[in-house]
Amino acid sequence: MATNKLLLTFAICRLIVTVGLTLRPTELLRLGLNGQLSLDPTDMETASLDFGMMSRAEPLAVFHPASAEDVVRLVDAAYASVNGFTVSAKGHGHSINGQAQTSHGVVIEMSGSVKKLAQLSPLVSMEQEVQEQRYVDVWGGELWIDVLRATLQYGLAPKSWTDYLYLSVGGTLSNAGISGQAFNHGPQISNVYELDVVTGKGELMTCSEEQNSELFHAVLGGLGQFGIITRARIPLEPAPQRVRWIRALYSNFTAFTKDQEFLISLHGHPNSQKFDYIEGFVIVDDGLINNWRSSFFSPRNPVKITSFNANGSVLYCLEVTKNYDESSANTIDQEIEALLEKLDFIPTSVFTTDLPYVDFLDRVHKNELKLRSKGLWDVPHPWLNLLVPKSRISDFDKGVFKGILGNNTSGPILIYPMNKDKWDHRSSVVTPDEQVFYLVAFLRSALDTVIGGDESQSLEYLTNQNRRILRFCDDAGIKLKQYLPHYTTQEEWMDHFGDKWAQFYQRKMEFDPRRILATGQRIFKPSF
Ligand code: FAD
Repeated sequence: MATNKLLLTFAICRLIVTVGLTLRPTELLRLGLNGQLSLDPTDMETASLDFGMMSRAEPLAVFHPASAEDVVRLVDAAYASVNGFTVSAKGHGHSINGQAQTSHGVVIEMSGSVKKLAQLSPLVSMEQEVQEQRYVDVWGGELWIDVLRATLQYGLAPKSWTDYLYLSVGGTLSNAGISGQAFNHGPQISNVYELDVVTGKGELMTCSEEQNSELFHAVLGGLGQFGIITRARIPLEPAPQRVRWIRALYSNFTAFTKDQEFLISLHGHPNSQKFDYIEGFVIVDDGLINNWRSSFFSPRNPVKITSFNANGSVLYCLEVTKNYDESSANTIDQEIEALLEKLDFIPTSVFTTDLPYVDFLDRVHKNELKLRSKGLWDVPHPWLNLLVPKSRISDFDKGVFKGILGNNTSGPILIYPMNKDKWDHRSSVVTPDEQVFYLVAFLRSALDTVIGGDESQSLEYLTNQNRRILRFCDDAGIKLKQYLPHYTTQEEWMDHFGDKWAQFYQRKMEFDPRRILATGQRIFKPSF
């Protein structure tokens, strides 16, 4: 306890020296922070980096809160101080471009050990009787994998996911949170009942559709600009037991997108059979299909791309799943058969696997462990995520997949459509101006060393290629929006938000007038 106090005083002194805080250490100590303000080198290093490994900013201190009240006290101190300091919530640090970093203030580590989080809030509190009201209240720094494990104990699970579950609730809700369920349930930001948010003025506010709705919509997809999410109430559904997971190949892009669009259109027909998850990816070489997320294809039985695609051009893989329970196991084959019959993939190219629901949702983690064991996880990730309007997706295919990309992708390229009517236009997130738009995600890893004179996997090469892709779209008039956007000037941000900029700006002035929150997004400069 005494060490804790000493550390705290030291951290505060450092803040004072560096930013000239007008509060004296005794005053900050009197704030009664129960969490730990830390200058531990490991903490500082972790807070200085992120998954992208392309930007670095060391904070003045790292704070591990013990409760929402702790977050309130720290933000309130930052807001009230004459000279000011910034506060950045960090979830699991899986941003690409330093979005959760700050060099002018404190990083709040929202994710921590499960034990500590369990003390913060009881993970599951549900009203079981009425299906509509099944929900879970989670701490904003909770990881989705832990939310899943906890709710499964009650036979329940959230409805809308990300492909990877080691992301924090607050982090994905600050963006959108998308995966193959989004066509049907909408993104994760469309699946929230209520939030507790600490605004940039240090006020803890509960918000929902009905209560403080302006703040509620601002925070969802709000890139951390309006407040720190300390609690989210997530609706739940009965968790399926098993998943039938199917992949099928296409050599014709038009046939591929036509089928994807047909499948996502079935969400509008409540009584018709539909898949539960719809994604897809682009294949430009043999390595990708056999290595990426390779738990699907058996290593003993590698898939030979050339057997489907003699002329070596690009292939597209549709990926769908159907959830089921033991009780409906006898009809699942017919249901899937009936859906597949309507599609136009290469007939001999259907691959099927069957696994427990939790294993399907946690599938990317297996890949993470493999990459970690080869030292290929902690490398720079020049990712580019785009939302491309349906009307221009075939131009994108011609110009990018079959053009700029060549045959070297340095990582998976996802492509799947979503329905705009499942996105709430009142949230802060921006999407293309069409009912159907595609996520196209270039999930690249750069190599530090150039192998055999081949520079096509270097960070510089891949970053340049990302720029070429964006320039091509701009020149071709493809009105896309970046997902997990990264810009460095306010002009670019204004362009990104378009019609929504005025509202975004107004909300910022209302909820974080000193512009101290999430400065790593580089949208607003702090007012001190
Ligand atoms: P961080 O990187 O820690 O923070 C991101 C931003 O949110 C920062 O600005 C931060 O200040 C802010 N923030 C963090 N916590 C809070 C909070 N509690 N309140 C307010 N603001 C907060 N995204 C998808 O949609 N679908 C996917 O399938 C998907 N897969 C991914 C797979 C991998 C391997 C990786 C690395 C990323 C993936 N992402 C995906 C992107 C991911 O959703 C975002 O990068 C998200 O921000 C990561 O969450 P995090 O907890 O690591 O956030």
